[in-house]
Amino acid sequence: MESCDCIETQWPADELLVKYQYISDFFIAFAYFSIPLELIYFVQKSAFFPYRWVLMQFGAFIVLCGATHFINLWTFSMHSKTVAVVMTIAKIATAVVSCATALMLVHIIPDLLSVKTTELRLRNKAEALDREMGLIMSQEETGRHVRMLTHEIRSTLDKHTILRTTLVELGRTLELEECAIWMPSRKGMNLELSYTLNNLIPVGSTVAINLPIVNEVFNSSEAIRIPHTCPLARIQPVGRYLPPEVVAVRVPLLHLSNFQINDWPDLSAKTYAIMVLILPMDGIRKWRDHELELVEVVADQVAVALSHAEILEESMRARDQLVKQNVDLDSARQEAEMAIRARNDFLAVMNHEMRTPMHAMMSLSSLLLETELNPDQRIMIETVLRSSNLLATLVNDVLDLSRLEDGSLELDADVFNLHEVFREVINLIKPIASVKKLPMTWILAPDLPMYAVGDEKRLMQTILNIAGNAVKFTKEGYVSIIASIAKSESLRDWRPPEFYPVSCDGHFFLRVQVKDSGCGITSQDLPYVFTKFSQSNIGSNRIHTGVGLGLAICKRFVSLMGGYIWVESEGLEKGSSVTFLVKLGICNRPNVSTATQPVIPFARVHQGSADFIGWRPFPKETPRYQRSL
Ligand code: ADP
Repeated sequence: MESCDCIETQWPADELLVKYQYISDFFIAFAYFSIPLELIYFVQKSAFFPYRWVLMQFGAFIVLCGATHFINLWTFSMHSKTVAVVMTIAKIATAVVSCATALMLVHIIPDLLSVKTTELRLRNKAEALDREMGLIMSQEETGRHVRMLTHEIRSTLDKHTILRTTLVELGRTLELEECAIWMPSRKGMNLELSYTLNNLIPVGSTVAINLPIVNEVFNSSEAIRIPHTCPLARIQPVGRYLPPEVVAVRVPLLHLSNFQINDWPDLSAKTYAIMVLILPMDGIRKWRDHELELVEVVADQVAVALSHAEILEESMRARDQLVKQNVDLDSARQEAEMAIRARNDFLAVMNHEMRTPMHAMMSLSSLLLETELNPDQRIMIETVLRSSNLLATLVNDVLDLSRLEDGSLELDADVFNLHEVFREVINLIKPIASVKKLPMTWILAPDLPMYAVGDEKRLMQTILNIAGNAVKFTKEGYVSIIASIAKSESLRDWRPPEFYPVSCDGHFFLRVQVKDSGCGITSQDLPYVFTKFSQSNIGSNRIHTGVGLGLAICKRFVSLMGGYIWVESEGLEKGSSVTFLVKLGICNRPNVSTATQPVIPFARVHQGSADFIGWRPFPKETPRYQRSL
């Protein structure tokens, strides 16, 4: 039997294997000793680490493990008992420390797990905080953009610049492909593309204002996404790119009902423009919420800036209008001044140059009438005299009126014989009335003072005018003159509503009423009898001469004398009544030398014709021309 070599023989320590084990043990020991150093370093650096003690145990366990491997180096060959004892002690210590560490770990694992949960929770919180921070930052960014845009937009008050700046700034800030503004057309039926950034939609394009998409934008106060192909955007996607996102927002326009804008009709309705914003054509970018908010805020800011611009434009227009009005007024004033100068020149000529030859004509005609004349010649001279009288009356009236109108006529305030004034008037008129076979009555109230203070000549001129008209416009019947004092209690009944007499001490109101049974005045003509150069066209009036100045002058005299004049008539052929009140001073101690001076009749009265020409006393400076009546 062959002997088997496979009998397990005591394996002699292989030199090489031992060598490798030896080296490995050395490195294990080295690693075991270095790890605790690292742990110590870690514990030292992390001051807040809660399980320092465990780490220390762990460190000790590793050191002891290292020590057993290290001592092991001496056990590969024959070794002493001391090495074996040390080895044993090291192993026992390692066992104790490792068990203690294991127990400790069991104890702290729940803690470690809860730390882990807390850490997770904290991490979630941190993430949420990060998100919030992002939001705040984006809001801040939005705010910053809004401020920047607002500043840019509001830096001008010109409407076109505002809108242009808005487009440019929004385009830059939001990196837009296109930004366009649709404004309502003048008739309000369409929206018209007025401004674009890159002219993708041609300026001047229109869309009907009643389109559903337009209404949708009008009805929303927020920026809304609209289809890229809709009439407000009109975008055709390029190639294989996705279509861009488009939003639209309304821009409220100022409600201008308080202003008169000539070319903007429908102001009662709320008017909006629409701003359309298109993102780049690649379709990658999407609108973010804070960008939409920015767009909405900018739209509001644009509306405010536009309203300011509109108000400014309106006030500029008003200012221009005022400037133009002032220029017109100035030229009107210059024209008026020129007209006044021309009138004054004309009056000066009339006053002097016309009156001198006229009076010569009148004097010579009067003288001629006193010579031997055949009937034809007499009629001719009488006509000349009558025409001269008329002309003189007219010239005097015009002079009086112009002086009254420019305020240069001042009333006298002298003592005069009031009764004498009426007597003179009657003396002057009676002959004419008797030619027309008109009975004339005159009543002076018993309490009428003999003397008064005032302008005797203007008073006489007024009574003469009115009484002269009464005779002139009456063919048959009567003419009566009644003079009395208007008592303050009866004044209330007589006076017309628009006249408020101011009674004061030392004055009284003289009331004169001239009544006739003549042609009368229609109710349509009554309001115009005091208008200068106006005459009634109806009835028999037209056959009388006159230019319609007499009553106009009377009215001005009467109001200068603090009084009032009015005419009453029941109609054609029903006679008329002219009444006036004037304020005269009460004369306590009449100066007899002035008061008793005979009043010289001013008027040049032509007698001998049934046609009464007129009664106009010449003013003071006129040479008096007296003729027996
Ligand atoms: P005229 O010089 O034409 O008389 P007046 O100013 O004195 O101008 O009168 C204006 C008009 O008033 C007259 O043309 C006449 O139509 C009307 N009128 C004035 N007084 C009377 C009157 N007593 N009777 C009828 N009509 C009168």
